[in-house]
Amino acid sequence: MRTIGLLGGMSWESTAEYYRLLNELTRERLGGLHSSRCVLYSVDFAEIERLQAEGRWDEAAEVLAEAAKALEAAGADLLLICTNTMHKVADEVAAAVTIPLLHLADTTAGAILASGMRRVGLLGTAFTMEQDFYRGRLASHGLDVLIPDAAGRSTVHRVIYEELCVGIVREESRQAYQAIIKELVAAGAEGIVLGCTEIELLISPDDSPVPVFPTTRLHAEAAVRHALALADNPHPTQLGNP
Ligand code: GLU
Repeated sequence: MRTIGLLGGMSWESTAEYYRLLNELTRERLGGLHSSRCVLYSVDFAEIERLQAEGRWDEAAEVLAEAAKALEAAGADLLLICTNTMHKVADEVAAAVTIPLLHLADTTAGAILASGMRRVGLLGTAFTMEQDFYRGRLASHGLDVLIPDAAGRSTVHRVIYEELCVGIVREESRQAYQAIIKELVAAGAEGIVLGCTEIELLISPDDSPVPVFPTTRLHAEAAVRHALALADNPHPTQLGNP
């Protein structure tokens, strides 16, 4: 089993989910007392959020690149950035290490394509919904990506930072998300990407009339597949979909 490096803390509410999922999925695969071999570097999210809000992405990239180096030095064989949003600096982070990065948008796109869908709605932070680093990356896989209108995007973004990232799960917010999901479905979405690692804390498959793509779970599943498959291939240069 290879060692998974988690670049987390963005927020720790979802990183805790990653840790639980990696261990549960490893036990499901290997049985007994098996658990995930992993190392975690958890940042202070207040620092990252301030850099995001001020558009200081180069500095955020430096912080995460240093953290990624620390994970590699600690023995990680592959790297996960445990947030959709910070994939905005995925190239800089990947360039700082020699271990492969398992890109969350590629993992998500793989799951959507495997389901046979082509048109999906995307929920996430404003950065993720509006900017090309994530939406464009999904589109580069041949997907048609719909996003909520401006008011919907503002609600989705606000709930992430003001509630989910600080451990608050409100029924009212769940209903607001459900209404936004319904609008995306009415506009033609065949599935909904829960494109922020905290949204799974609020929205379950039962809350949507169409299938959802939970990015935290999909990322953790892909990481476990790679960690176990990599045992036979100790020097991978690129991570595909095993
Ligand atoms: N965890 C969230 C995401 O997946 C948002 C927090 C962040 O800005 O990193 O995008």
